[in-house]
Amino acid sequence: MRTINLIVIHCSATKETSAYTVEDLKRDHLSRGFNEIGYHFYIRRNGIIEVCRAISKPGAHVIGYNAHSIAICYEGGLDSSGKPKDTRTGPQKASMQELVTTLKAKYKITRICGHRDLSPDLNGNSTVEPSEWIKACPCFDVSSDPSLRL
Ligand SMILES: [Zn+2]
Repeated sequence: MRTINLIVIHCSATKETSAYTVEDLKRDHLSRGFNEIGYHFYIRRNGIIEVCRAISKPGAHVIGYNAHSIAICYEGGLDSSGKPKDTRTGPQKASMQELVTTLKAKYKITRICGHRDLSPDLNGNSTVEPSEWIKACPCFDVSSDPSLRL
């Protein structure tokens, strides 16, 4: 079993007003050349958690951080006009918390963060500021969500 110490939260970067199913996700990841969905879990707007990839296998979700992490993606992240927004529904938040709690109990997790928090720290001040984000994913501040703390 690989060493796992990091949980990375992603969003599908799709509009909250349109459905993006696990089949859609699979089709899009296969078209990018992956052999399966790059995330380990996908949380639909109704709170259903889809298992996408075995935890024993590294994900394909953030370059440089795949080896020791678990990737959780939620459906949404954009408002109806396509702007980044925390679009998580109540059931999605509850499922995310439940999943993170389960994973924390099973693995020695030392960090839970959003995809954007792993952007390069360009000015070297040890903080990844919004101006340094490569992308907005997961469109909310993971560190300020009490249900996603260590
Ligand atoms: Zn992402």
